[in-house]
Amino acid sequence: LCSDTKTASTASGTFVIVGGGIAGVTCVEQLLSQIPSADVALITASPHIKAVTNYKQVSKTLEKFDVEERPSSVLEEKFPSLTVIHSAVKSLHTQAHSVETADGLVFGYEKLCICSGSRPKLLIYDNPYVLGIRDTDSAQAFQKCLSKAKRIVIVGNGGIALELVYEVEGCEVIWAVKDKAIGNTFFDAGAAEFLIPSLEADKTESTASCKRPRYTTEEPAPGASQTAEFGSALGPDWHEGIVFRGAEQVRWEICESPTLHLRLSSLSGQSWPVYIQLTNGKTFGCDFVVSATGVVPNTEPFLHGNNFELADDGGLQVDDHMMTTEPDVYAAGDVCTACWEHSPLWQQMRLWTQARQMGWYAGRCMAAYVLSEPIELDFCFELFSHITKFFNYKVMLNIYYVVLLGKFNGQGLGPNHELLVRCTKGQEYVKVVLSGGKMVGAVLIGETDLEETFENLILNQMDLTMYGEELLNPNIDIEDYFD
Ligand code: FAD
Repeated sequence: LCSDTKTASTASGTFVIVGGGIAGVTCVEQLLSQIPSADVALITASPHIKAVTNYKQVSKTLEKFDVEERPSSVLEEKFPSLTVIHSAVKSLHTQAHSVETADGLVFGYEKLCICSGSRPKLLIYDNPYVLGIRDTDSAQAFQKCLSKAKRIVIVGNGGIALELVYEVEGCEVIWAVKDKAIGNTFFDAGAAEFLIPSLEADKTESTASCKRPRYTTEEPAPGASQTAEFGSALGPDWHEGIVFRGAEQVRWEICESPTLHLRLSSLSGQSWPVYIQLTNGKTFGCDFVVSATGVVPNTEPFLHGNNFELADDGGLQVDDHMMTTEPDVYAAGDVCTACWEHSPLWQQMRLWTQARQMGWYAGRCMAAYVLSEPIELDFCFELFSHITKFFNYKVMLNIYYVVLLGKFNGQGLGPNHELLVRCTKGQEYVKVVLSGGKMVGAVLIGETDLEETFENLILNQMDLTMYGEELLNPNIDIEDYFD
C-alpha cells in the first residue's frame, strides 16, 4: 500500500463495495443481511445513496419497486458494521487488494464489488450544446437550458429519448431516430404506433403541478464530495416532477433515417447556436442537442495496471457468480456485462431491475464465499422481465403497466419467429413472440392481466401450435384455460 497515504482499513475479511446506486446498495444490504458482522465499506462518489422501496414481487420473475434517494446514514444505522465513505475511487490495485480514493485514502479488501454504473454515451464530448441526461444534476442542467430554448433536437431511440419526447413541453422538438419505428429498444413498430397517439393527447396536470424533482439532491451532506460526473443514474420516473418546459409551441417532427451520421457545427452569423446534420440530408438549427444514445460503463478508474477482460460494450465481463476476470473482484449493475451462457429467454439490458437483481445476487455470492456455501445462478436470470411505463400512459388513460417478457422484440431470433398481436386502440396492446410453436416473448401494454399466464407459458415452453391465433382471442379467458 502507498506509504504516504492513510490506510483506512486493511483487515482481512473485509468487503469493499464501490457505488451507492441500486446495484451497490442492494449488494451491501444482501451481504449484511446474511452476515451482519461482516466488515463492509461502501465507497460512493454521490452524496446520497439509492434505496429500493415498496418492493413487490409481481410474479415469478416480474418485480416492481420505487427508488428513493436517501442519506447514507440510513444504511449505516441499519447495519452497524457498515461504513459509508463519500469519495470517488481513483485507482484499484488488484494484486495488493486495495482501492485508493480521490482523497488519498486506501482501503484493503478481501472481496471487492464494483458497482460504479454507467454514463451517457454522447455524440460529442465537452460541447456545451450537447447534453446527456444521467443524474439529478444533468436533469436539472437540461431543465435550465430548456427554459430558454425554442427548439431542441433529441437523438436516440431508447427509453430515455421516448420519455423526453413525451415530457418536454412548449418547445419545438426534432426527434432524430435511427430506426424505422420509434422506441426501437423496447418496442416494435406496432407498439410504437399504439403509443404514438399519446404524444398528441392532452397531458395530465400531474407533471406540471409537482414543482420539486423527485430525485432531488438537497444540499450535500457536510464533507460529501460533489463529483457530478459520478452521480447515480436516474431510474423509472426520473422525469416526474421535473418540469421540462421550453419557450415555444410544441411541434413534433420525427426524422427517420436508416443510418444516422451526425455532424455538429457552431456557425457564426447563423440564428441558431448549433446545427445538426442528419444523414437523411436534413440540417436543423437548434438551441441544443440531447444525446440519448445509450450508456458507457464506468470502468476507467479500475482498469489501469489490472487485467480486466472487457466486453464489446465496454462493460467488465462477469461470470455466473458475478466475478470479473480479476481474482476477488465482483461487479454488478450497469458497469458489468453478463458473460455467462445466458438462458435463451434472458438478455442483459442496463435497467434498474437488473441493477437490483445483479447487486442482490453479487451480495449473495460474496456471502456464500464467506459461509463456504455453494451457490447457483439465480432464477431471475432465467427470463428477461421488466415492468415500465412510457408516456405517462398510466396516468393519462388509467392503464398501469408496460410489461416486457423474454425475447419481447424477437431479439436474436432472426426471421425464425412469428408474432401474434391484439390491439384495442387507446386501451391495450398485446404482442406474443412465438418460435417453433412456443412462446418466447411478449409485450403487454395496458391492463391486460396476462403477465402471469404468459410468464408461465414462456417458462414452461409448452407447444402452443394447436391454439394458433386463439391464444389472443379476447373472448377466451386464457388465464382460466391454462390454469
Ligand atoms: P448507478 O445507479 O449509476 O450508480 C452508480 C454509483 O456509482 C453512483 O452512486 C456513483 O456515484 C458511483 N460511482 C461511479 N463511479 C465511482 C467511483 N469511481 N468511485 C466511487 N463511486 C462511483 N432504468 C429502468 O429500469 N427504467 C427507467 O425508466 C430508467 N430510466 C432511466 C433514465 C435515465 C435518464 C437514465 C440515465 C437511466 C435510466 N435507467 C432506467 C437506467 C437505470 O437508471 C440504470 O440501469 C441503473 O441506475 C444502474 O444502477 P447501478 O447501481 O448499476 O448504477
